[in-house]
Parts: sequence; structure tokens; C-alpha cells
Amino acid sequence: MKRNLQNQKTLWDSTMGVAATLVLWPLIVSVPLMLQHTYANIFQSGWYAYQQKPKPLGLCLGLLAVAVGQTFVLCYQYVRWTKSKYAGKLVPVQPNEYRLYDYAEAAQEHLSQPEGFAVIGCYLTCTWMLHLMPSSYYSFEGGVAWSKVAACLLIQDFLQYVMHRAEHKVSKSLYRASHEPHHKFTNPRLFDAFNGSLTDTLLMIVLPLFATKSIVHCNVWTYMAFGTLYANWLCLIHSETHHPWDCVFQACGLGTAADHHVHHKLFSYNYGHLFSYWDRLCGTYRHPQNVRQFRKNHKDPTQWKPHKQKKIFSFNK
Ligand SMILES: [Zn+2]
Ligand SMILES: [Zn+2]
Repeated sequence: MKRNLQNQKTLWDSTMGVAATLVLWPLIVSVPLMLQHTYANIFQSGWYAYQQKPKPLGLCLGLLAVAVGQTFVLCYQYVRWTKSKYAGKLVPVQPNEYRLYDYAEAAQEHLSQPEGFAVIGCYLTCTWMLHLMPSSYYSFEGGVAWSKVAACLLIQDFLQYVMHRAEHKVSKSLYRASHEPHHKFTNPRLFDAFNGSLTDTLLMIVLPLFATKSIVHCNVWTYMAFGTLYANWLCLIHSETHHPWDCVFQACGLGTAADHHVHHKLFSYNYGHLFSYWDRLCGTYRHPQNVRQFRKNHKDPTQWKPHKQKKIFSFNK
């Protein structure tokens, strides 16, 4: 009987996991998916026709796409935070430490951090309105080109890998001035994704974005799909619990919460965020199964405490 109940629970968990995966990811890209073929029926052509002068509609829709994706991610996280049965079974990435937090407080802190969405929003607004984007980005024709979305994600993640590793390794003063604040979270939660410093966001996110847009020439829908996938995926890999899609992502070399927790725990592995390819190529990849701290130690879990900054340096020596 007990065994049957366990089987039933597993089936329910799997069903909820598959449902969450199939619903959440399309919702993250819902704005470009819905508008790419219907925009001409909704907006006047004068609002989007490209005539050598940037118009704000594409920018506004892009910001809306990320905001809508983020809203669905926050709803998904809320269901998990409440431990609702509809979240399926939740498995902590780090089973030996628990981290309690108030959802509303954490969400408010996450959304209001100036080094997060505010800085990236300013960058997007300036580059768009000052016409610093290649002209293809202002085009509404053609719908989402998924091969270019993939190229943008791969290039952005590679450049972010390089900048991330440089912030760790070039000098202690650079590390201290840029990336150290993000590393106080040795057991991060989803809401810690953009909790760091302005310099860190500029070096690791904004500079790579500026380079990526010059390398891959997208239209507005492709840029929108890339932007919302990128921003929301960065949040998801900081989750304190495994996602239902993580086993498939792990097998394909796509970034998971466990992979990124390895970086937050050990500092010197898994510099990539969205993919593990760069770490595997450069010999800096550590599989989460090979991290002692991520295996259950059969003691009662202890409450996580932020990392003391000075210890980071003694660890790196
Ligand atoms: Zn992180
Ligand atoms: Zn780091």
C-alpha cells in the first residue's frame, strides 16, 4: 500500500513537472510568439515601419516581453514557494542547508535592485533610441528566427563566461569591485540572480550584450525572444530547488540550477550560466553529482548563512 502511494506520488510529481515545463517556457516567450504575426492588425504601420529613425514601439514591446516572462516566472516560483501540491515534489539543490524567506519581501528586493532590471532597461533604451543597434533590429518583418535566438544565447553566454572568469581571476581588486557581492550567496535562491553590483552587471551582462548585437543581426521578434529567454533563464538557474526540466537540460549541456549552485559553492567551477559547453571545453566544469556538499550528509539540515567576504580570498589561494 505504502509503495503504491509512493508510485502514485511520483506519477503526480512527474505529471506536474512536465506540465510546468510545457507551460512555463512558451509563456516566457509569449509576447513575441503572439505578436509576431498579428502586430499589423494591432498597430498602425507608422508606429513600426522603419525609416532610418528608431521608433519606441519595438523597445516597449521588448521590455514588455521580459516583464511578462518575469511575471510568469514569479508565479511559477510562488506556487513552488507555497509548497503547493501542484508544484510536484520539490528537491532542494543543497539538501544539507535550508533557507527560509518571505516571498513578497524577496520578490520586491529582486525587482527593485538598481543593478538588475533597471540598468539593463537603461542599456536597452539608450542603444535602441540612440540608434546604436544594427538596422535589422528595427525590422518587424519575418517573425522569430530560432536559429538566431540560439546563436545570440550561445555567443552571449560565451562572452559572459569570459568576463565572469576574468572577474574572478584577473585581480583581487577587480573581483572585490565587481563580482564579490554576488558571491555572498553560497546557497542562492531564484531571487538572488541580479543581486550583485553595478560593475558586475556592466561587465558580465551589458558589455556582452553590446558585442552580441553587433555579431548576430536579428529582427525585433528574435531580439525579444532572446532577451526574455536570457533574463528569465538567469533567474531560474539561481533557484534553490531543482526544476522539473533540469535532468533533460543537464543531459543536453543546458544550464541548470545545480550547475550554477556548484559555482556559488566552490567559486572556481562552472563559470557558464546558460550552457556548460564553455566550461567543458576549458576544463572548468564540475558535475553537481561530484560535489560533496550536494550529497545528503544524513544530519539535520542547518540554516544557511551568507558567506563572509574575506573568506572568499582565502578559499581561492
Ligand atoms: Zn549567480
Ligand atoms: Zn562567480
